[in-house]
Amino acid sequence: MPKLDINGGDRLKLAIQRSGRLTEDTLALLHAIGLDFESYGQRLFSRCRNFPLSILYGRDDDIPEYVGLGTVDLGIVGRNLVEEEGRPGTVLRDLGFGYCALVVAVLRDSRFQDPADLADCTVATSYPRSVRRFFADHGAAPEIITISGSVEVAPTLGIADAIADLTATGSSLLLNDLRPIATILESQAVLVANPAALDHPEKKANIDRLLLRIDAVRAARRYKYVMMNAPESALPAIRAVVPGLKAPTIVPLADPGWVAVHTALEEEAFWESIERLRAAGATEILVSSLEKLLL
Ligand code: ATP
Ligand code: ZN
Repeated sequence: MPKLDINGGDRLKLAIQRSGRLTEDTLALLHAIGLDFESYGQRLFSRCRNFPLSILYGRDDDIPEYVGLGTVDLGIVGRNLVEEEGRPGTVLRDLGFGYCALVVAVLRDSRFQDPADLADCTVATSYPRSVRRFFADHGAAPEIITISGSVEVAPTLGIADAIADLTATGSSLLLNDLRPIATILESQAVLVANPAALDHPEKKANIDRLLLRIDAVRAARRYKYVMMNAPESALPAIRAVVPGLKAPTIVPLADPGWVAVHTALEEEAFWESIERLRAAGATEILVSSLEKLLL
């Protein structure tokens, strides 16, 4: 049997969550940037076949420490955990998934309105350091009870006056009769690196290759490619709507007085832009998704 050498020279090691809220989007991103590896079942690690990278699957709570200690060079984990562990690595990129917030919440009918009201109270959380820091910034030092699961039932059970927990939509809070009163931090999945890996020339070069790919995939998701036909006279109005990446491409059509305009539109204001383009005189608007976009 071959030796299990996941370190093998300058191979990068990346820790990701084995099974949880971040796993599916993390694997999708890694595949989207062209990494070829097996990820099924309860694997402990995989080797990429087409990139000098090994992937280690772990509990999300352990990932910041792995990165801090240099057990791995890179990790993909929620920013909430990076902050909780005192930023053990360098955050290289926000990854655009795993959005949530660490919020302070109290029972709906309680008298508490803001963090300072909790100065002499007890707060249950899985993120004691972030919570303590937050209350200190508000001149309060409530008693903090650290619990690892089902934090949201603590007030109902009378274990704590308030909680600080992660929520994406707030629905878990509502379900437990809780009312948010403050946001400690906003979080999403991030790519975090061990600083020594960034000082290692070969590793750094391969990290840069990964970053270029991640940026290309994320930029592509931000834009749609749009082609339209328009009378030449509509061009000034169309150009005001679509700056394009630099400028739109304008191609004459066989029909005199008509042009085709090719451009990229930001997803965020997509429908507003389309409405303005139609109002400006654009017709036969064709929209397609981009796969990669290197700016
Ligand atoms: P593990 O078994 O790896 O320890 P876990 O149960 O501690 O997993 P998950 O619930 O899978 O962790 O959450 C992982 C991360 O997903 C969180 O640290 C956070 O960054 C993010 N996240 C996104 N939305 C939510 C949410 N609604 N509630 C909790 N975490 C969320
Ligand atoms: Zn966890």
